[in-house]
Amino acid sequence: MTAENTTTGATLLRQVVPPEKRELTELHVHLGGSVPIYRLWEMGIARGIRGVAHSYEDFIRLLHRSSENTGDLDHYLEIFDIIELIQAGPSAVQESILIALNGAYRTGGMTRLGPGGEGGDPEPIFTISRLELRFNPMKRTGVLFSRGEPSGLFDVDRIIRAACEAAEESEIAYRGGIRTGFLFCFGRDMSWEVNRTLAEKVRYWKKSQKKILGVDLAGPESAMTLSNPAELEQMAELFDIAAGDDLGRTVHVGETPHVNLDTFIATIKALKPHRVAHPVVAARSFWEQNDARGLELLAERDICCELCVKSNILTKAIADAAEYGRFIRTLDEFGIRYTFSTDSPALQLTTLANELEFLLQHAAVTPEQLLRAFSTAEQATFIKG
Ligand SMILES: [Zn+2]
Repeated sequence: MTAENTTTGATLLRQVVPPEKRELTELHVHLGGSVPIYRLWEMGIARGIRGVAHSYEDFIRLLHRSSENTGDLDHYLEIFDIIELIQAGPSAVQESILIALNGAYRTGGMTRLGPGGEGGDPEPIFTISRLELRFNPMKRTGVLFSRGEPSGLFDVDRIIRAACEAAEESEIAYRGGIRTGFLFCFGRDMSWEVNRTLAEKVRYWKKSQKKILGVDLAGPESAMTLSNPAELEQMAELFDIAAGDDLGRTVHVGETPHVNLDTFIATIKALKPHRVAHPVVAARSFWEQNDARGLELLAERDICCELCVKSNILTKAIADAAEYGRFIRTLDEFGIRYTFSTDSPALQLTTLANELEFLLQHAAVTPEQLLRAFSTAEQATFIKG
């Protein structure tokens, strides 16, 4: 479903969201995927970046994550290095955060967007008033890691400090109407040396910066499966250095066939996350091999699942709306908590409202399941207070 398919006013979601629930919490949004395409284009022009696309229309076609240019996680992720370059450096990171927060507050509850992601719905159903943003500061230093050079043009300390300042400034501007904080992502596609530098930066800055909420592991599972116990141990050490006992922990794991159930279980045990993103392998192993170990582990440890509907369908982690419904019912069957997020709303030309509307229209979720997920997001957020 695209944003253009829905009409303002008569949505199922509008009937489901009660008047007292007009402020929602969203937990899983990447900074690289939450600056609208039209704003990335403007930032590129302002910064004198060339060679990204021949025209604005080409730029939209290139960046918009649709069923035509995705199909698996590796393809879904392949344009993020362009965005990371546009967002590189303290001032661009700061600008991106302001845009992402304003966008979530203003357009998160809209069911209509313009072609470049402009808000176009005069009657949003809700606002996102608490937003966790995640990004990799090392990938904002102006380096293309895919070309193997580990040191960046920009200073990562300045980037982290600028990000925290942007978050605080937005909260002041909104007079408490929006609250935010960051999860810093280790990269499955980064060298151990660079990941270790990130761990040490997080450990240093979390002492003074309250906006640092937690850590995550992201990037293509094909690049680092962590099926090797020595590598998993190394990643666990980095999580301990960065997060210790005082930050939140989440991890992208089990989204693709590159990670099997045994590796999924080992990863959860080693990295000790409070939440997990897209744990599809746990459900699929149960459906296809009647192996419930992954689901039982999630239930036993009360790990909250971060589900991102459209992105899971674009990467073919989940086939379609019907299978999404089955996924949600399976989690309920095992008493596992879950929340709904957009992952990269700007690049998917979607909003949280659109994703939820999609589930309702296809009867993949019931109103009760949706309302429970809203409350779960409030309980599971790493934003305190
Ligand atoms: Zn994600």
